[in-house]
Amino acid sequence: MSRLVMKFGGTSVADLERIRHAARHVKREVEAGNEVAVVVSAMAGETNRLVALCREASALHDAREYDAVVASGEQVSAGLMAIVLQSMGVDARSWLGWQIPLRTDAAHSVARIADIDCRILLERLAQRQVAVVAGFQGIAPDNRVATLGRGGSDTSAVALAAALGAERCDIYTDVDGVYTTDPRIESRARRLSKVAFEEMLEMASLGAKVLQVRSVELAMVHGVRTFVRSSFENPEASRAGPGDLPVGTLICDEDEIVEKQLVTGIAYSRDEAKITLRRVEDRPGVAAAIFGPLSDAAINVDMIVQNVSEDGRTTDVTFTVTTADFERALHLIENLRGEVAMESVVGSADVAKVSVIGIGMRSHAGVAAQAFEALAQRGINIQLITTSEIKISILIDVDSTELAVRTLHSIYDLDKT
Ligand code: ADP
Ligand code: ASP
Ligand code: MG
Repeated sequence: MSRLVMKFGGTSVADLERIRHAARHVKREVEAGNEVAVVVSAMAGETNRLVALCREASALHDAREYDAVVASGEQVSAGLMAIVLQSMGVDARSWLGWQIPLRTDAAHSVARIADIDCRILLERLAQRQVAVVAGFQGIAPDNRVATLGRGGSDTSAVALAAALGAERCDIYTDVDGVYTTDPRIESRARRLSKVAFEEMLEMASLGAKVLQVRSVELAMVHGVRTFVRSSFENPEASRAGPGDLPVGTLICDEDEIVEKQLVTGIAYSRDEAKITLRRVEDRPGVAAAIFGPLSDAAINVDMIVQNVSEDGRTTDVTFTVTTADFERALHLIENLRGEVAMESVVGSADVAKVSVIGIGMRSHAGVAAQAFEALAQRGINIQLITTSEIKISILIDVDSTELAVRTLHSIYDLDKT
């Protein structure tokens, strides 16, 4: 007997038929004698619809009311999942964030989980009742509903698994695991049987949407064995033997991975915008004057490059932000022009970031050079480069995204087993 958390994403609860299918996976685990907590996302497309409604109601809306609106999607799917489980003879009830309670910090719309009080859930699980928890939501210190940022149900699930001391957190989605790159872009992408926490953290933060970044952080900190698998497979046939794992990808400690690859995966993000300040006066304090206001406005700056301008006396500064922050960042920089002398400010949202990730890079030289060479051969111009110990990121024209992903995927033999 084990305690399991089973999370179902939007496409896995898209309609009643899919909810019934997901419920059969739950029933299988209950019948195997496990204590089960289920975390559900809103039905596919529902959160997007609710976000659009808030924007339409007012471009500048109160984040607390946004949370009240968008959290409703998970309330519906949790209730429906409980009803369907009951109809199959499985004892179940739904739980909203505030009912548990799952407490968050005060950052409405991008809240972090502060604490989960699991007492009632543990009592019910011991009575063999399935707890169906609405993902993506909790209760903030102001006693109001808070949401955890897009994709946040993954984080609800991993945090719940940590708090409940669950043996595993199964993330059921529309792919049967984590692939070497997004299988929607490269059909030759391969499923990875294991990925180290650190690599998954890079892949998620560099654009692989399969897991929310914070869920991977939590899994790493609390050592939660997180298993990404498909909800679309036959529930009854995906019964694994004792100790075996069914088809999927285990996110685990690096030590558990025997065969370490040089490069594990390629991630991409089109959610990027680039701002260049040309011929900025070159004196101490200029970088602080530029990036201070952005940080005060909670704008995350990602890549930064500063180099000497053509005339040798001034400098050019280029940085990237998410597309959502682009207009605000441009506006803040324009406002700086009285304080910091610069010739011009140019921005573009027609860029994408493509990244090569692998813990094997720590001990191997030449991975970056190979990437630059291959992209040059395809005529793809690199606008910015950043690196860390286990990743290389390049900024390119958005139209070249798919070609760059496929090119990089092929040069490191990721399409070969
Ligand atoms: P859910 O609704 O279940 O949370 P998401 O859409 O958030 O599902 O995440 C699953 C999707 O992530 C897949 O359909 C796939 O297109 C995308 N994806 C991006 N990169 C990867 C990757 N490296 N491996 C697997 N899926 C990926
Ligand atoms: N429904 C939320 C979203 O679409 C949370 C999630 O699916 O994880 O972002
Ligand atoms: Mg998701």
